[in-house]
Amino acid sequence: MEKIKIVIAGARGRMGSEAVKLVEDTEHFTLVAVVDHKYNGMSLKDISGFEVDVPIYSDIEQCFFETNPDVLIDLTTPEIGKIHTKKALENGVRPVVGTTGFSESDLAELEELTTQNGIGAIIAPNFAIGAILMMKFSQMAAKYFSDVEIIEQHHDQKLDAPSGTGLKTAEMISAVREEKQQGHPNEKEILAGARGANFKGIRLHSVRLPGLIAHQEVLFGGDGQTLKIRHDSYNRASFMSGVKLAVENVMKIDLLVYGLENIIE
Ligand code: NAP
Repeated sequence: MEKIKIVIAGARGRMGSEAVKLVEDTEHFTLVAVVDHKYNGMSLKDISGFEVDVPIYSDIEQCFFETNPDVLIDLTTPEIGKIHTKKALENGVRPVVGTTGFSESDLAELEELTTQNGIGAIIAPNFAIGAILMMKFSQMAAKYFSDVEIIEQHHDQKLDAPSGTGLKTAEMISAVREEKQQGHPNEKEILAGARGANFKGIRLHSVRLPGLIAHQEVLFGGDGQTLKIRHDSYNRASFMSGVKLAVENVMKIDLLVYGLENIIE
């Protein structure tokens, strides 16, 4: 089997360094270069914590031209990730993007580019397969339990609330559940926010504490019973099986896929 040639952008970061390990540990993947705004012209092995001898490029197009990769894994920042994804598509390199924060118009523009260039791209705001299954199982359960509350918990450096996964879960549930007002019709909040955010009648609660990484519980209630569906990411390695799946799948598609749930049966 021919190895999939990979470039990683953001390799020194928390997610990127895990992705370097993933590529190194996967027999049918090979790392050919990394893209970094620092250390141009050096080798990755010259950076503390890395042993792999691949070149570092600050110019992504030069990197593509000289190393001829199949896939770009981008784990950087929204602004840079968008530029990298466009350049990858324009240069015939398939992007697998974990970078979060792309707007709907960014996605529309990138979708247009995949069509123009006839190659696939996968953009996944959550690579944890367990989290994707939690969303899918919650959608299944919501057909039978229409009363549901979502409690998501993250580290205290997270800027957005609710989390993208919490919101996406509420969207997936509301696609199969008739909008309804939950709780007592006359309930009153003594303290504002006590009942959480309201997404089409579904209550969403965001917990932020040091020590947490990314966790979510979807709590369903019915007559005399409750059902809890919970997922916990304890470290960033939890996202890597999803990155692997995305790299393998992006080689087989010629369109933009947004969300790993669309490639997991
Ligand atoms: P991080 O630790 O800050 O890593 C980002 C890396 O990108 C840093 O090494 C940074 O270098 C580098 N970078 C910045 N500008 C660059 C450029 N122009 N070219 C190349 N590299 C550049 O962040 P992280 O926690 O790994 O997260 C990375 C992204 O993944 C974020 O968008 C985050 O929200 C997302 N994320 C996604 C998932 C998922 O499942 N999809 C899970 C967790 C996180 P400097 O430090 O020198 O600036």
